[in-house]
Amino acid sequence: MDAQRYFYGPVPSRRLGYSLGVDVIPKKLCPFDCVYCQTGRTTEKTIERVSFVNTDRLKKELIGILAGKATIDVITFSGSGEPTLHQNLDRIIAVIREVCGRRIPVCVITNSSLLFLPEVRRELAAADIVIPSLDAPNEALLRKINRPCAQVNFERIVEGLVKFRAEFEGRFWLEIMIVKGINDSPEAAAEWKGLIQRIRPDKVQLNIPVRPSQEHAAVPDQETLRMIQEVIGEETEVVLPFEKQPAARRDERIEEEIVEYLRRRPATLADLCASTGAEEETVRRVLEELVSSGRACGQKHQGVEYFRIND
Ligand code: SF4
Repeated sequence: MDAQRYFYGPVPSRRLGYSLGVDVIPKKLCPFDCVYCQTGRTTEKTIERVSFVNTDRLKKELIGILAGKATIDVITFSGSGEPTLHQNLDRIIAVIREVCGRRIPVCVITNSSLLFLPEVRRELAAADIVIPSLDAPNEALLRKINRPCAQVNFERIVEGLVKFRAEFEGRFWLEIMIVKGINDSPEAAAEWKGLIQRIRPDKVQLNIPVRPSQEHAAVPDQETLRMIQEVIGEETEVVLPFEKQPAARRDERIEEEIVEYLRRRPATLADLCASTGAEEETVRRVLEELVSSGRACGQKHQGVEYFRIND
């Protein structure tokens, strides 16, 4: 990867608190091309695993961040592509442990596509929390919502999830992204119920596409979410809005932090205030400068204005 930073945020995460994102994949390598993806269309669909990260640089960057940041609840692998495409992910987790010990848990958010590979399951075992997704309860919906590359199919994904659940000793939360008009039917919910009985996650989280995507994936209504929650069962929860208070402002590098955040995901003014801990006025001014210089743009989604970096 180029000199772009590996870490971004902390991002106010609806389920993890203040999450310091670590992005180890160049934009945008992924075995999937999801209709709801907030980082745009996949430029290279692949399952080929490669090492991209310079661990010395990553370590130095993390030490610098920890010296200044007030609140980090978790360090989360997520960002521009699928984290398990990085070879030897466990080595990066080991570097993070070297710096933080066990005081900050490490989480990996994965689309589950590579869990059928024993080496991926072995490397992921080093994390404290793994959040794999299963947005489709059958092959036809997988092709519709996740649009995977040829080497990935539904049975392989489920098989990988079942095996990883049996091997992994940390927290295992299964995520399902519900997109209106695609995977929000009672029939889909009934299929998930059977699959979840097979996979046995610690909990199931229903998520919705709250951030804008290029293909304008639509958010289902509350009634539909309740129906799916009831069909799947009581261990299912809907991911709720972020409620913690912003962290206190720490340093002067607000613009750089905002740019690194927006490179990975669109964000509202409130998200950026919560992430940086800066005054609303300050964040607004930085955003205005970024927009007027053409580096960023605003986009309305569900009546809310999000900002993103122009590619
Ligand atoms: S798996 Fe994640 S990064 Fe890949 S296309 Fe889907 S939403 Fe985007």
